[in-house]
Amino acid sequence: MKQKLIAGNWKMNGNLAANESLIRALLAAVQQPVATVAVCVPSVYLAQIQHLLAGHPIDLGAQDISAHEAGAFTGEVSGAMLKEFGVRYCIVGHSERRQYHAESDALVASKTQRALASGITPIVCVGETLADREAGKTEEVVKRQLAAVIHENGHCISEIVVAYEPVWAIGTGKTASPEQAQQVHAVLRAQLKAASSQAERIQIIYGGSMNAVNAAQLLAQPDIDGGLIGGAALKAADFLTIIDAAR
Ligand code: PEP
Repeated sequence: MKQKLIAGNWKMNGNLAANESLIRALLAAVQQPVATVAVCVPSVYLAQIQHLLAGHPIDLGAQDISAHEAGAFTGEVSGAMLKEFGVRYCIVGHSERRQYHAESDALVASKTQRALASGITPIVCVGETLADREAGKTEEVVKRQLAAVIHENGHCISEIVVAYEPVWAIGTGKTASPEQAQQVHAVLRAQLKAASSQAERIQIIYGGSMNAVNAAQLLAQPDIDGGLIGGAALKAADFLTIIDAAR
């Protein structure tokens, strides 16, 4: 059975003191985790968290990556730079970036490629808005988003992680039911299978108000291979409960 992945997305939260106490609380409890655990932190804190995590079984993640290799791209952070700080995972195409930074499917596909070329595992986010869901377009939207990534990354596709994150569930306290989430995960799995003979080993994780109470039920679904956790990843006790639910 593949190990589950529990990744925290800290978004634009934290400060030096709060980061240190959160990481120390996690490390005190996570010694031999039964799941792969990662924290995706703001890029200015990568060095701090890399240092704190050294020698411990929690992986470091970033929240974005430039689609470019290097050069005159003010404000951007390259894959090579992330790699220098020990980054193993990078969130790509989070709905907040698609929404507030107008990231297109094509840009998300290029960022995915850049992460793979840098030796970083991209956590590629797909998900429908409430309007999409109400219009019966959930499947169409997530398949379109994933198709762009498959198209540009071809045979490397088995190296990605996919995060299904319904936009209406992110930071809202509304969670997809385990059945709703499983249904979309099965659609994504079938799409990956059509693209790769290795699709079974691709982790498809769920994100959207996953918390200490609902995690176990979501993680028990056959195609849910982990979680991308926002708000609950900022509270050590809640994040640890979710990690525990992934065994
Ligand atoms: C996220 O930002 O990826 C997320 C899932 O957030 P939350 O858990 O707060 O809904």
